[in-house]
Amino acid sequence: MKIVIATKNQGKLREFKTLLADLPLTVTSLSDYPAIGEIAETGSSFADNAALKAEAVARQTGLLTLADDSGLEVDALGGRPGIYSARFAGPGAADQENNARLLAELRHVPLPERTARFRSVIALARPGEKTIFVEGICEGLIAERPAGSGGFGYDPLFFVPAVGQTFAEMPPAVKNKISHRARAMAAARVILQELLQAEK
Ligand code: IMP
Repeated sequence: MKIVIATKNQGKLREFKTLLADLPLTVTSLSDYPAIGEIAETGSSFADNAALKAEAVARQTGLLTLADDSGLEVDALGGRPGIYSARFAGPGAADQENNARLLAELRHVPLPERTARFRSVIALARPGEKTIFVEGICEGLIAERPAGSGGFGYDPLFFVPAVGQTFAEMPPAVKNKISHRARAMAAARVILQELLQAEK
């Protein structure tokens, strides 16, 4: 079965491909469908935005489509940046600018109060069918300075106490076991397996 991962983010795509590697799926992404234009994330929740992307791409390709919307929720900031994580420092902001803004906003917040979580909501859409949602979270702390060079986005600042490292310091295999996206994907896999089974 063919599946479209509705993302242009190469970091996310790499993680999704790894997480789906052992399923009998032909994985494509938005890079394989250049005619599909930008899909505005105008929703007011992760689920809204994931559905907007998955349903638009499923409609235009006629294929099963997986889209995730994810972000960082920082307790000391009342849950911000949340759905605005990619553009925290402004439209088109680079990862480093977003990280700098996060450190600046938390400069007076002591470590024990820098609790945060990554959340990922995955929408699975098929033309003419009801969209299915699954969610995963990973709890952590916002470090006082960046550490590590792996991953993308806020990874150098997201410290996971249970591992004793930031996402950016962990080998990808470790991040891919415990991340919000890995947890949402574990739930999505069960649904994909059912869809694959039903196709037989
Ligand atoms: P999305 O592409 O609209 O889901 O935006 C997600 C944004 O949240 C990304 O641009 C990153 O800033 C942040 N984000 C989501 N997942 C991760 C992750 O695994 N590591 C680091 N940052 C992430």
